[in-house]
Amino acid sequence: MKIDKEQLPPPQTQDLRRRCPACAAFPRLALSMLNPTNGTTIRLYECRCGERIWDERLPK
Ligand SMILES: [Zn+2]
Repeated sequence: MKIDKEQLPPPQTQDLRRRCPACAAFPRLALSMLNPTNGTTIRLYECRCGERIWDERLPK
């Protein structure tokens, strides 16, 4: 039996979700932008409790 890889979610979607350090809920992605100076992707997550989490990661 053959498994179609296109039906599987890309692995990077799994670690996109960060937990809120304040209430451990999954904050929603509020902003995503590319930093042209060093090529990193900057994301801003906003939780329903008001907590904001900045995430910056290098491209692969
Ligand atoms: Zn929270």
